[in-house]
Amino acid sequence: MTDELGELGRRVSAARAAAEARGETFYQGASRVHLAAFPPRERWDDWVELSSRAWPAREEKHYTLVPTTCFNCESACGLLAYVDRETGRVRKFEGNPEHPGSRGRNCAKGPATINQVTDPDRILYPLRRSGPRGSGGWERVSWDEVLDALAARIRTALLESRQNEIMVHIGRPGEDGFTERVVASWGVDGHNSHTNVCSSGGRTGFQFWMGIDRPSPDHANAAVIYLISAHLESGHYFNPHAQRITQARASGAKVIVLDTRLSNTASHADYWLAPQPGSEAAINLAIANHLIQTQAYDREFVRRWWNWAEYLTACHPQAPVTFAAFEEILSGLYAEFTFEFAAAESGVSAETLAEVADVVAGAGHRFSCHSWRSAAAGNLGGWQVSRTLFLISALLGAVATPGGTFPNTWNKFVPRPVHVPPHPGVWQELSWPLEYPLAQNEMSFLLPHFLKDGRGRLDTYFIRVYNPVWTNPDGLSWMEVLRDESLVGCFVALTPTWNESAYFADYVLPMGVGSERHDTHSYEQYDGQWIAFRQPVLRAARERRGEKIADTREVNPGEVWEENEFWIELSWRIDPDGSLGIRRYYESVERPGEKLTVDEYYGWLFSHSVPGLPERAAAEGLTPLQWMRRYGAFEISRGQGAVHEQEVPPEELADAHPGPFGRVYTAAPAPADPNIVPQGAPVPDAAGRRPAGVIVDGVARRGFPTPSGRLEFWSSTLAGWGWPEHALPGYIRSHVHPSALDAGQVVLLSTFRLPTQIHTRSANAKWLDELAHTNPVWIHPGDAARFGIGGTGDLVRVSTEIGYFVAKAWLTEGIRPGVVACSHHMGRWRLDGGPRGAGGMMATVGLDRSPDGWAVSRHAPAGPYESADPDSQRIWWSDTGVHQNLTFAVQPDPISGMHCWHQAVRVRRAEPGDRHGDIAVDTAKAHAVYQRWLGRTRPAGSVSPDGTRRPQWLMRPVKPAAEAFALPADQ
Ligand code: SF4
Repeated sequence: MTDELGELGRRVSAARAAAEARGETFYQGASRVHLAAFPPRERWDDWVELSSRAWPAREEKHYTLVPTTCFNCESACGLLAYVDRETGRVRKFEGNPEHPGSRGRNCAKGPATINQVTDPDRILYPLRRSGPRGSGGWERVSWDEVLDALAARIRTALLESRQNEIMVHIGRPGEDGFTERVVASWGVDGHNSHTNVCSSGGRTGFQFWMGIDRPSPDHANAAVIYLISAHLESGHYFNPHAQRITQARASGAKVIVLDTRLSNTASHADYWLAPQPGSEAAINLAIANHLIQTQAYDREFVRRWWNWAEYLTACHPQAPVTFAAFEEILSGLYAEFTFEFAAAESGVSAETLAEVADVVAGAGHRFSCHSWRSAAAGNLGGWQVSRTLFLISALLGAVATPGGTFPNTWNKFVPRPVHVPPHPGVWQELSWPLEYPLAQNEMSFLLPHFLKDGRGRLDTYFIRVYNPVWTNPDGLSWMEVLRDESLVGCFVALTPTWNESAYFADYVLPMGVGSERHDTHSYEQYDGQWIAFRQPVLRAARERRGEKIADTREVNPGEVWEENEFWIELSWRIDPDGSLGIRRYYESVERPGEKLTVDEYYGWLFSHSVPGLPERAAAEGLTPLQWMRRYGAFEISRGQGAVHEQEVPPEELADAHPGPFGRVYTAAPAPADPNIVPQGAPVPDAAGRRPAGVIVDGVARRGFPTPSGRLEFWSSTLAGWGWPEHALPGYIRSHVHPSALDAGQVVLLSTFRLPTQIHTRSANAKWLDELAHTNPVWIHPGDAARFGIGGTGDLVRVSTEIGYFVAKAWLTEGIRPGVVACSHHMGRWRLDGGPRGAGGMMATVGLDRSPDGWAVSRHAPAGPYESADPDSQRIWWSDTGVHQNLTFAVQPDPISGMHCWHQAVRVRRAEPGDRHGDIAVDTAKAHAVYQRWLGRTRPAGSVSPDGTRRPQWLMRPVKPAAEAFALPADQ
C-alpha cells in the first residue's frame, strides 16, 4: 500500500509539474491520495471510486470520464459523465472542472441529467399517429419511412415555390448555428424561435443602446451588482453568473435586487426593492437623474461615446452642437424622475431609493447589471426597463470595464462552419409581420392567430425543444390550429419526451438528451471567450476504446437519434441529386460527393475556426476534435477589454470615407466574420461601403455596431420608424399600471421560474420532480383577507380576460400587497387515453368544448405507477400545480414584440364544484384580445422611412438577403 501511494504521489507530482508548465490550474488528485473537488483530467481514462452500495466492503468502481454540456438551461455548464468501464453505462453526471464558464459547478438540474437518460417514460422509437390528431393512437415507424416522407413533402414545397410553408420552430436553441445553417441551406426563411415569450423585452433595450442585444456583466470584479431578476437562482446563465456574484460578494460587493417577490436572490441582496410591477424603469430613471443632477457620471465617457451630437442635431436644431449644450439639456431631461416620483410609482420609499442611488454612484466603473426576463418580459414597454438600466451603466462609463457590463458578442465566440449557405431570398410574414418592424425576434406566439386570420398556412412544421401548447400564452388557440390539417399540413415534434404539443403531432421523433447529442456553444459568462462541445458521451467513451461509431443511434437507447445527423440525412434526401442546390452544404470536403459526417463537420470547425485550439491540441498529440471530445471546452481568450476603443488598422482606412457624426465607411473587405449570418451589422452607406469604425477625438476606433457607431442614447431607428416619443431611454406605463386596473383587479406576476425546474423538459427528471412539483398562488395575508381566503391550501379562482384557473393559495409576506404570483413551471397534463408523458408530473385531463369555450378538467392526479424504474412506485405527491398560461391572452408589445406576461386578474375563493387545476378558456375572446393589441402597432407600410420592412441592421437569427427586405408592392 505504501508503495502504491508512493507511486500515485509521484504521478500526481508529475501531473502538477506538467500543468504548471502549461500555465494551468492543477487539480489535486482525489480518491485515495488527496481530498479534492474534482478528478484531475490526467486520470479521466480510469477514474476509481469506491462503490457506495458495497460499503463497508471496499469495492472499486472504474470509470471513463467523458465531458459534455448540460442541456437543462441556456447556461451550457460543463458535465462529466461517469461511464462505468464494466457495464458501459453512465453511472452519474458531475461538473467538468475544465469548463471555463461553470468551472466544475452545476445546479441541481445538471446531475439530474441521469434521470433524463434513464427516464422510463421517454420516447424510444419514431412514431406516426394512427388516428385523428390528438386521438392518442400511435404506430412505430422506421427512421427511413419518416425521412422519406418528410423529404418528399419539403422537396415538393420547394419545387412549387412554397418556401414559406416550411417552418422549424425552436424552443431552447442550446447550440450556436447548426439549425440556422440548415434552414438557410433550404433557402427558406423558416426559422422561428421562442424568444418573444422569453427575452425580447430585455434584449431590445440593450440592442438600441449597443447594437448588440445582450449584456455580459463582469460580476466577479464588480463593486455594485444591480439585478432586475432572480438572477442567482434562475437568471440568464445563472449558475456561471451566480458563482461570480458570490465571489464578488465575498470581496465586499453590494447586491441590489429589484423583484416584487422575495426570491432566493432577493433574500441574498444587500438592498431588496419590491416595486409595483412595471415601475422598474421609473426607479432606474430616478437613479440616473440622481447621477446627472449630482454630476456623478463619467463626463468624458459620455462625451466620447454617446451619440449626443446626432441627438442635438435631430431634436434640438437650435442648440449649438457642443457637449456643454448637451449637458445642459441632459440636466433637464429626467428632472421629473425624482425619488418621490419613483416612490409613488413603485411603492418603494424615496429614502431607500436615495440610499440605493448613492451606492450606485459609488460604484464608478465597477457597476455590473443584468435584466432579462422578469420585468422586461412582463410589461407593456418592458424593453425600457433594460434601456434605462443600461442608461445607468452608460452614465457611469461602466461599459466594457473590469467589473462593468460588456456587449455580449465580445464575450462569445461562434465559429464559422464548413459550407456556409447564403441568406435566403424570401421573407416569412407569419414570423416577421409588417405590423412589428422593430420586433426583436419572431412574433412566434401570434402564429395561431395569423393562421386563423388566413395570412398563410404551413405545409411542414417542426418543433424542437419546444412545447408551444404549454409554453406560450393562449395555448388552446395553438391546440386548435395544430389539430387543423388545413392550417398545418404536417406537424413534426422532435423531442426526447412527450409533451402537451407532441400529442397533436403527426410524427413524434425521439431526440437525445444532453448526453446523447452533438452541439457547440459559447455564452457570455465573464470577460473572455470560450467554446464548449456537447457530445454523445457513450459514443466518445467507446471511441476512446478504439471502436468506430458511424451513427449516434448505435449508442443511444432504443432508436433515439440526435438532431445533427437527422438534419444532415433529411437535407440529403430532400435533394438527392443536388439539383436544388441543397446537397452541396452536406457534402464531405474530404470525400467529395459523399455525405458529411458529424465528425467531419465538427473536426473541420475546430480545426479551421477556433483560434488556438489546433495548437493546444497538437501539444498533446491530439487533433482538435479529439481534444474537444476529451476535455469538452476550450478557452479562446480572456480579458477582451474595451473592444470599442480599439483603433481601426490603417489598411482598413486606406479608402476611408467619412459618414455623418464621425462614422467611417470603407470598401475594404470585412475581417473574417465568425457568424454564419451577420447578426448586428450596420447597413452600408449609399455607395455600398461597410462601416469600419467611428472617429473619436480624431482617431478611428472600432466603436459599436449601431448605425452611428456610438452608444445610442437617442435612437435614430426608433425615431425614424414611427416611435420618436420613445427614442430616448424612458418610462412607459405598463398595461398593469395601477391606473389601468379596474376596481378589484390585481396584478398576477407570472414570469418567474423555479431553481430546480426548467419549463417542460425537467418533468422527466425524478429528483427534480420530488424537489418541486407545484405552483401555489403567492398571496399577501392582507390581500387574502380581502379576497375571503382563509389560509394556505385554500382553493382560489384566478380570472383573466379570457378565462380562469383554480389553484391553491400560499399566504406569504414575501409578495407585495396588491400583487399575486404564480410560477409558470407547473400544471403539466396529458390527455386521457394518451401516452403517459411524465408520470410524476402530469395530471390526466379531459378537454371539453362548449359554446363558452374550452374546459380542462382533471381526471386523475399524478401518482405512483409501475415502470422499469422502481422509484415511480414511490411518488408520494399528487399536487402538480396548474397550467396558468392557458388562461393568458396574447399581449404583444408594439415595439419589441415581446409578449407582456403580467396579467390583470381577479382573485376570489373558489366556487363550490371548482377543483384544483380546473381551467376554462374562451379562445374567441382570446382572438379578440389579439386584435385589440394588434391595433397598438404602427406597421412598416406606414412608417418605414426607406421602403423596407425592417431596419436591416437589427438582428435576425437567419437574416434574409437584402432584396427580401423590400416592402411588398401593395404597401
Ligand atoms: S445552470 Fe444548471 S441547468 Fe443550467 S446548464 Fe448549468 S447545471 Fe445545467
